[in-house]
Amino acid sequence: MIKELLNKKDIERIISRIAHEIIEKNKGTEGICIVGIQRGGVYLAKRLANKIKGIENVDITVGSLDISFYRDDIGIRKEQSIVRKTDIPCDITDKKIILVDDVLFTGRSIRAAMDALMDFGRPAQIQLAVLIDRGHRELPIRADYVGKNIPTSILENIEVQFEEEGLEDKVILMQN
Ligand code: 5GP
Ligand code: MG
Repeated sequence: MIKELLNKKDIERIISRIAHEIIEKNKGTEGICIVGIQRGGVYLAKRLANKIKGIENVDITVGSLDISFYRDDIGIRKEQSIVRKTDIPCDITDKKIILVDDVLFTGRSIRAAMDALMDFGRPAQIQLAVLIDRGHRELPIRADYVGKNIPTSILENIEVQFEEEGLEDKVILMQN
């Protein structure tokens, strides 16, 4: 461990702020569906939906996408993001989709997630919320809602712990 970046209270405040930002940007919650990327993004998506419920007293549908990586054998560059399992419990056509992930890095997972979503319909808009933006983008993708920007070196890694997995809520900077 190099250092603790966020503790439980910090993460709570971030969820609260982003929930308010989502409501503000969208002038309410009409037509919103939140979709988390497994696993961290799904925990965050559910927390955001709960927080919004507390503020606006509306139930927001939460879906999930499971994106895995595989190394292609041709080996030009390493990892590809593929979508394995998708649970989208609403018709996304004309909806505003808030995609949620824990860490934004190259942007390839988000591209794969958007690609997968489009097979389900034509959303009015897709917005992106991430807990951590660690830089190193390889695609023209940026988040609309950012918990914390952490400029990392390529050798560093962000460890995100969740209560949903029996750990203390925490974000830690690690050296590989
Ligand atoms: P990208 O596709 O943007 O390169 O990487 C994003 C995905 O990989 C996210 O779903 C995220 O979970 C994972 N990821 C990339 N870098 C890190 C990191 O430093 N820490 C953690 N916990 N996940 C990462
Ligand atoms: Mg993740």
